[in-house]
Amino acid sequence: MPRPLDPEARKQLVARVNYYREMGIYDFYRRPLAEAGNELSAAAMQSAEADSAIPVISTRETSLFDSPLHVAQDKPAALKIIREDIGDCTRCRLHQGRKNIVFGVGSVNADIMFVGEGPGADEDEQGEPFVGRAGQLLNNMIAAMGLARSEVYIANVVKCRPPGNRTPEKEECDTCGPFLLRQIEVIRPRVIVALGAVAAKYLLAVNDSMANLRGRWYDFKGSRLAVTYHPAYLLRDPRQKKEAWKDLQMVMRHLGLKVPARNAPE
Ligand code: SF4
Repeated sequence: MPRPLDPEARKQLVARVNYYREMGIYDFYRRPLAEAGNELSAAAMQSAEADSAIPVISTRETSLFDSPLHVAQDKPAALKIIREDIGDCTRCRLHQGRKNIVFGVGSVNADIMFVGEGPGADEDEQGEPFVGRAGQLLNNMIAAMGLARSEVYIANVVKCRPPGNRTPEKEECDTCGPFLLRQIEVIRPRVIVALGAVAAKYLLAVNDSMANLRGRWYDFKGSRLAVTYHPAYLLRDPRQKKEAWKDLQMVMRHLGLKVPARNAPE
């Protein structure tokens, strides 16, 4: 006969279930009690950060960040839980053609998180974001900032490859995006760089042109968010590389990184 939960544990459990429901996750599975207990203690509460004093242009309104149980202090464990929650996901039609779910890669303690729109063919094949030609350019951009790829975190709005590399549809972004929001919540980077219009529009919940979105800071629940061009777009229109380099220099200045006198990375 299972022991009844004490009121505080019940309250925490209800809060956690409600938290997942807010994200559209309704399926749960049971784990051994000891394991679940460890996880609950790891998911210690953190008080919400005060709103930034930075002039706010727009932020995605979401209750995810207000959940009392949203941040596990053990970041790898918290990311593992998110990956487990994704499971062998069939929540949207993008699952139909995928080979691999492309979760994310990089340092859990990254100051910078790059967010693209979705995996391409190479990423689908290898299960890692930004490993094709656009990924090589992103690597060069990161290196030009004086950083290694392993020092940043990289993820996408949708985790399965859209057929023919088409742009993910809003419905697909809305279905998969909460997993990204949870990754951001765990990583808590100082700066999020939205790569391209899909990531920018999803994260900021606005519908605006890249021309208007770039070149300014957004407050994203404690992180700063900047928008730049997607590396795949830069491969198609290399003239815009110098504009993207300006965006990255803005990020570097904010992080106190030395801005080298050099041309845009190729
Ligand atoms: Fe699930 Fe996201 Fe893949 Fe859609 S894109 S099937 S929501 S993991």
